[in-house]
Amino acid sequence: MKRNCPICGGDEKELLYRQNFGSKAIALMEGYDVAACDRCGFVFADNIPSQEEFNKYYEEMSKYEFNYSDGVVSKEYVAHFQKIVDFIRPFLKDKNANILDMGCSTGCLLSLFKKEGYGNLLGVDPSPSCAKTVKEVYGIEAVADNIANFDKGERYDLIVLSAVLEHLVDFSEAMLKIKSLLKENGLLFIEVPDASRFNSYIYTAFQQFSIEHINYFSEYSVKNLLSSYSLETVKVQESENRINQTVDPDLFIVSRRKETVGSKMAKDEITKKSLEDYIEKCGKIDIAVKKTISERIGKKDRIIIWGVGTHTQMLVGSGLDLSKVLYFVDSNARYKGKKINGIEVKLPADIRENVPILISTYSYQEEVIRQIKEKLGLKNEIIRIYDK
Ligand SMILES: [Zn+2]
Repeated sequence: MKRNCPICGGDEKELLYRQNFGSKAIALMEGYDVAACDRCGFVFADNIPSQEEFNKYYEEMSKYEFNYSDGVVSKEYVAHFQKIVDFIRPFLKDKNANILDMGCSTGCLLSLFKKEGYGNLLGVDPSPSCAKTVKEVYGIEAVADNIANFDKGERYDLIVLSAVLEHLVDFSEAMLKIKSLLKENGLLFIEVPDASRFNSYIYTAFQQFSIEHINYFSEYSVKNLLSSYSLETVKVQESENRINQTVDPDLFIVSRRKETVGSKMAKDEITKKSLEDYIEKCGKIDIAVKKTISERIGKKDRIIIWGVGTHTQMLVGSGLDLSKVLYFVDSNARYKGKKINGIEVKLPADIRENVPILISTYSYQEEVIRQIKEKLGLKNEIIRIYDK
């Protein structure tokens, strides 16, 4: 569907880039357009599926979610959420403050608030398994619900929206709901990726234009969004997200509900330029990576490609030669039996042929190689794409 600018509603936009994911069989969509709003400068993915289709996609994904059972959370994860707590703490002196984490995942952030002595905590997450984990692992109340339906008839001193807004097709329903759940003078914390700095944090080509991330915020566009709902920006801080074994730029913003705040927009003049730079740099990396792959495959007759996630989808979308691919392999059972350009996706346990395996992931390259050699005990030759 076509989108008007989700921040100002404008329908005049400029196409910056066409992102292709190759096969729709595994990727929800064949691709989308990255567009910049002429009026307010916000950059977003255009010609995308509806929110309902995204919800179905996320539901399907969550069925195969990593099953959190032993209570061990990575150090990077905890450190990231501690930074958020440290950022919010000065604005939230009252330990009895009513805190709602909307999109709480497995509850790591809430558990850190609990550690700091905050006692009035509630998590909401669309995934029932996440809500269950929050309760069982941390003893914190949590419900399985989405923003649209959630309402316990209470209002909150702080609502947390961490890694939520970049996923939404339309903000208005969520923002109106969030605002209605805030007490007068209540705080809204937002964390989003900072698209105005993507060009300084490139690991793989176009990694930021993923299927899940369809809005590209900057400090200026977040302020415009908040202002259009009469929320007053209190503090903005540039930060970095180190959760996924890469470093990605993000933003922390605290705002306050104040009935007296009027709406004012200022055009974001920075994000479009910086994303144009990002797109140009990624285009060069994409060409270089495909050249590396082709050199490393060399004269080999057949290969297996490990990984069908974003990394592979981007390469297939930009025309990776698949003529030597016997099949794809992915640990995630949701892809089993699906086909990419007519080539089947299998599970790791189904590898029988001793042909070279191309590792198509940046973040998990070494982990996958360990899995192949140690856990599966396979003797297949390994082809790395990245020399880290
Ligand atoms: Zn706009």
